[in-house]
Amino acid sequence: MADESVQREALITAIENVAARIEDEKSHLTDLDSAIGDADHGNNMYRGFSAVAEKTDEFEEMSPAEVVKTVGTTIIGNVGGAAGPLYGGSLMTASQELEGGITTETSVAFAEAYLDKVQDRGDAPVGAKTMVDALVPAVHTYKKSIEHDDLPPLTAFAKAVEGARRGVAFTVPIKATKGRASFLGWRSVGHQDPGATSTLFIMEEILATAEEYLEGETDVAPAAESVPDEDPEEAQ
Ligand code: ADP
Ligand code: MG
Repeated sequence: MADESVQREALITAIENVAARIEDEKSHLTDLDSAIGDADHGNNMYRGFSAVAEKTDEFEEMSPAEVVKTVGTTIIGNVGGAAGPLYGGSLMTASQELEGGITTETSVAFAEAYLDKVQDRGDAPVGAKTMVDALVPAVHTYKKSIEHDDLPPLTAFAKAVEGARRGVAFTVPIKATKGRASFLGWRSVGHQDPGATSTLFIMEEILATAEEYLEGETDVAPAAESVPDEDPEEAQ
């Protein structure tokens, strides 16, 4: 893959795109969290990613692994609730996999380490109506697409985003058994999980950035639209 300065530039662009998307989706994420949580997920994520976006000058001096680690520490320092340590701590741990730079191989190791850490920390299986429901199909699809199907990384990542999108849709009809939404029991059924949704938005922005930087390296089609949300009003 590209040399370190191009990797860093792509990473910084991805971070800026993610921060802008989270800002755009702030009230959407909060609406989702108001249906089955405490209505803070949009603000939590926005606080974290706007703090991250302020560090882009510092990122210019760092290796890709250091950039990702700093994103993690910044999120931990600025995002409260369940999502802060889950997102931030997992990024910090998984950043170690990028110490040799970003390659197809290290990106798979990063994805697996990230998922492992989320599950270590949060102890949520698939089907508990959390971000794990988006991550498991995404990470498994990415790994299989690269290691078994020999697909180019961009095609593999586009498939991973599709996996995450299906995972988000899967959170709607199921009952929450982890996190704050689990306090609602059966009343959580029919609502889309906020953390799975923010995970998908982040992945969509990483894909859009990767498409920009890896253009011409594969024939992957542009990402499809996100799953339509339930109307939070109607679904209450
Ligand atoms: P809080 O629930 O503390 O208010 P947020 O609203 O920011 O924190 O984040 C809620 C999201 O965190 C949920 O939608 C869910 O995806 C995720 N989450 C909560 N608990 C867990 C867990 N144990 N494992 C994985 N993800 C979790
Ligand atoms: Mg919340």
